This record gives sequence, structure tokens and C-alpha cells, in this order.
Amino acid sequence: MTTITIKRVDHFTTAAKHLLGITSPTWHYKSIERVDKTCQRDLGFIVVGSETTPYTKGPRKGCAKWIGEESRVVVTRKDLDDQLGRFEATTGDCYECYGEGKYPWSVSTTDGTQYKPCKRCGATGKAP
Ligand SMILES: [Zn+2]
Repeated sequence: MTTITIKRVDHFTTAAKHLLGITSPTWHYKSIERVDKTCQRDLGFIVVGSETTPYTKGPRKGCAKWIGEESRVVVTRKDLDDQLGRFEATTGDCYECYGEGKYPWSVSTTDGTQYKPCKRCGATGKAP
């Protein structure tokens, strides 16, 4: 598990927390799946999550361990768009690259992470 993967879908976690009224910083999504995989229409996604705590030992030390009761909520495309708007309004950063002006497109253990400039903000990192 890479932190990059989590970061790219962070907006789903924040949108789900907003809808559920959860303010805990350690609540995180566990799974995200389409409402109807057979349907071409965008019906949104079912986000399931719960509180997390880091593993303190073993090979997964530092990784998130899901604890407590699960919550699930449907996050529609509009819910996600609203969240992206809130993100840019509060941070001033581009939601696509999280203000970094670039995004990782290749992760390799030998070559490290390769980046490409963010097209959405023209690599400035600022909300366009
Ligand atoms: Zn950007």
C-alpha cells in the first residue's frame, strides 16, 4: 500500500465524512465501489469506512488498521464535485494534484516515483 493511492482517493473519504457528519481525523474509507456495476449511468459510489489506528508491530507496522463500527454512505458525483469545490475554497489548491503541481504516474522500486505536470492547474498547484 502506498500513500499515493490513499491520497488520490482522499476526496472520497472527505466527502463521505461530510455526508455522515464525522469529524474524526482517523476515520478512513475501507472500500469504495460503484452503486451498480452493470449500469452505464453514474449512480455514485458506496463508501464504507470506520475509525483506524496504526498497527504498532509486525510487517504492517504503521499501516492503518480498521477498528470500531463501519459506516456506509452513497457518494454521488455531485457530492464529490461539492467536496472538490470545498477543498479548493478552503485550501486554494488544485484538487487534482493537491497543490503539488504534479502527479505521480509511475512508481517503481528501482526508479522511484516519476511525475508528470498537472494539466488541470498548468503545474502551478493553485486552483484554476
Ligand atoms: Zn493541479
